[in-house]
Amino acid sequence: MTDFKKIGSRIVRGLIEAVFPAKCPVCSKIFHRTRNNDLSKQDIRNLDFEQVMSPFLCPQCLSGFSPIESLDYGENSRQQFRKSRSFGNYKEKDEETVFAKAIRCFKYNEKIYLAKPFEQLLFSVFVRYWEKEEIDLVMPVPLHIRRFRERGFNQAYLLIRNWRRMAETFHIGSDFRIERDVLFRHRWTQPQAKLTGISREENVKDAFSVRNCPKIKGKKILLIDDIHTTGATVNECAKVLLQGGAEYADVLTLAR
Ligand SMILES: [Zn+2]
Repeated sequence: MTDFKKIGSRIVRGLIEAVFPAKCPVCSKIFHRTRNNDLSKQDIRNLDFEQVMSPFLCPQCLSGFSPIESLDYGENSRQQFRKSRSFGNYKEKDEETVFAKAIRCFKYNEKIYLAKPFEQLLFSVFVRYWEKEEIDLVMPVPLHIRRFRERGFNQAYLLIRNWRRMAETFHIGSDFRIERDVLFRHRWTQPQAKLTGISREENVKDAFSVRNCPKIKGKKILLIDDIHTTGATVNECAKVLLQGGAEYADVLTLAR
């Protein structure tokens, strides 16, 4: 973009923001955006929630973010994935966090514009915790075709759609590929959010399958989802990927 165009678009954006203040998707409060989320001068490995989300959430919701403090999730003998990381907490003191509420707005209330900042936050965690040779394929947890048609999008895919471009922008020398045509959810399942513990495991048991095994043979895979609660879904996905010949599967989610 030429400088002239850049200045033009900045003026237009300024005018739009002055005339149309934003509505916070989490609490519905009207607020004035104070910053834009230009990340070019930020350290991509340590993106700051407030900076990234400030054009989208009101100041009060912004300050309610709860970062993940411990990476120690305890051992689970049935765990099929190698390691898992997330950007923020899903619950705090049994209460859903602002972050979780914003994710719900994105997924169920058509606030698709949140895909952009969420994707940036997720990419930040990816480059912070994975070395470039650690991942060959990045895969969204798939939806059942019926759910996909109902919703119109796979929220997990929207969280990685621009990762290749972002890797170039931020000079992350990594040659992972986004792969959407290997892992499928062939069985209809209830939304996990409505279930607890063991019934979540039952719900997703044998719901996934791998087509085209040669594509994943010996590959190091990163599974992407919006929320990691009991891990039942990603565990099932990791199981079929390993059966299909993957070397390992890791997990990255926005919240946990
Ligand atoms: Zn708010």
